[in-house]
Amino acid sequence: LNVAETSSNFKKKPVIIIVVGMAGSGKTTFLNRLVCHTMASNVKGYVMNLDPAVLTLPYGANIDIRDTVRYKEVMKQFNLGPNGGILTSLNLFSTKFDEVISVIEKRADQLDYVLVDTPGQIEIFTWSASGAIITEAFASTFPTVICYVVDTPRSASPATFMSNMLYACSILYKTRLPLVLAFNKTDVAQHQFALEWMEDFEVFHAALDSDHSYTSTLTRSLSLALEEFYKNLRSVGVSAVSGAGMDAFFEAIEASAEEYMETYKTDL
Ligand code: GDP
Ligand code: MG
Repeated sequence: LNVAETSSNFKKKPVIIIVVGMAGSGKTTFLNRLVCHTMASNVKGYVMNLDPAVLTLPYGANIDIRDTVRYKEVMKQFNLGPNGGILTSLNLFSTKFDEVISVIEKRADQLDYVLVDTPGQIEIFTWSASGAIITEAFASTFPTVICYVVDTPRSASPATFMSNMLYACSILYKTRLPLVLAFNKTDVAQHQFALEWMEDFEVFHAALDSDHSYTSTLTRSLSLALEEFYKNLRSVGVSAVSGAGMDAFFEAIEASAEEYMETYKTDL
């Protein structure tokens, strides 16, 4: 296939949504909520599970790493602990990822979205060669968006908020893909404070001043550096449990997919 042909074959759909976030931020629960929401609104999507170690999933995965790679066997065979086992399983799966892409390509005209769940521990996907291979395989074939799930109640202190944002920022610069921040668990804590901190660093500084457990000039300087990062993303408040924020989330995804097309259309 020559480049011109590839580019004319490039379709806007489906949009790939790679869901990442700290362990326990609610990725799997959120994905299940998205599946329920799309089913109810007659939107067609695939769900892919890339967590080889998960025991039970709340959703039925169309593509599941566990169908191809036996995590427990990998641990035994290579004499690995749990994290090494997950990483090696992902490596094995990524060597066959072109097959996964063709499965999706065959169904492309019937699919609006492909939702991708990643392993619980974030760095296994975001800082591994296989995570990069999988992300690039998606992004060179379909419009691809990263959804970074934030545990809102656990990010309520300025210091934890800052470290979470720095992590999200590193993912943006590593993948160079449009990023949507999903402030999850808004049924427990509203995300308004986060929006205010991102909009105005003086408000964030005031919050830092009132947090006597943590005073740092570094955090202050970093918040200025993050201003640029905040301008480059979309944020929505969601609750995987109550279902709040789903329409806003899909609007953010649509806008991000447009951004992807604008950014990368000349390369495809
Ligand atoms: P993952 O490791 O990121 O996949 O996180 P899980 O989806 O397994 O969720 C971790 C925990 O957070 C579970 O106990 C969920 O029930 C809980 N959880 C996830 N989303 C929400 C939410 O929107 N609200 C509340 N209150 N709990 C949530
Ligand atoms: Mg999970």
